[in-house]
Amino acid sequence: MKTLYLSGYHSSTTLAKEQHISSHISKIKKIRKQDISAEQLLQGIFEGDKAHLAKAITLLESSKPEHFQKANILIEQCLSKKNNSIRIGITGVPGVGKSSFIEVFGSTLTQLGEKVAVLAVDPTSTLSKGSILGDKTRMQMLAKDPNAFIRPSPSGDSLGGVARKTRESIILCEAAGYNVILVETVGVGQSETMVHSMVDFFLLLKLSGAGDELQGIKRGIMEMADAIAINKADGGNIEKAKLAEVEFSRALHLYPPKENGWSPKVLRCSALEQTGIVEIWQMIEGFVDQVKTNGYFDDNRKNQNKNWFLQTVDELLKLHFHQKKAFEKIQAEMLKAVEQQKISPFYAAKKLLESLTGELK
Ligand code: GDP
Repeated sequence: MKTLYLSGYHSSTTLAKEQHISSHISKIKKIRKQDISAEQLLQGIFEGDKAHLAKAITLLESSKPEHFQKANILIEQCLSKKNNSIRIGITGVPGVGKSSFIEVFGSTLTQLGEKVAVLAVDPTSTLSKGSILGDKTRMQMLAKDPNAFIRPSPSGDSLGGVARKTRESIILCEAAGYNVILVETVGVGQSETMVHSMVDFFLLLKLSGAGDELQGIKRGIMEMADAIAINKADGGNIEKAKLAEVEFSRALHLYPPKENGWSPKVLRCSALEQTGIVEIWQMIEGFVDQVKTNGYFDDNRKNQNKNWFLQTVDELLKLHFHQKKAFEKIQAEMLKAVEQQKISPFYAAKKLLESLTGELK
């Protein structure tokens, strides 16, 4: 079994990393202020330059129309860049150890020669105006790693907005040479379903409890998981973790076989003691082999893109109507008519659209 001692690695390369991070920060500051053309940004991204990548992501997160144009050029150019990436979604309740796990998992991967990007999806970031997942104190070791790129959650006006920005960020990161993309999310609202719809592999982090493992687990989350990793399997917790492993394995067997032909796995790990981490990566590599052989990998990515397109059409149509000047006025009239039972709700909705387009029958 391969064992990697990350803390030793860390101390022996600390100086190089500190230098890397300080030159990276000063470069970001410089680039942030400059108005850089799309061509320059693209060149920087293709060269794997983190400051250019960060600036490009800021552009696609912006709501300014002129940034939108530029961001679109970038996405289109980056889409054609083929990269043998694996996109991994990671979820779990706050406190389960997501950031500790990603720190150790990501560092393990960079030591194995991979380039790792960490993106976060935190639907609460819009409300709190500060993302919990973007906290600067998290993943300090990985943040200093020249082969890792960390980006906090975009704040969007809607989950759809956050989804778009994250998907586009994935494309830019891949074009910059990052071949393992970790998309982290918390179990809030629809965020897990959304992350599941943009990744190849979905990992659920769990804690072992006192025999109540299956309680409190959100409906649907077990079906989405390709693997469950029971974290904090260390110290006095090891026996409980083993029991949880058995219980989750049993529960997973009750679900119908997955479309991808993969049987979900349950593993134990400790982010603290850095055990079980390489095994999780080996399992994911096994998954990739299997779904690339059976054709699911490519089909799934194509389907994800098609669904994204269809969802976007729906969203844009909605926006198109909501933005029409007369919309609010006619909607208010119809609402009143519905309240007074002068018109059926369905007919009122049809009438509203008819009066906005003049086309619907
Ligand atoms: P997150 O909220 O899911 O990102 O969780 P954190 O990574 O911030 O971890 C929450 C707490 O659990 C912290 O105090 C960590 O030090 C601790 N923790 C994380 N992983 C482990 C582990 O493998 N074993 C133990 N014993 N503690 C851990």
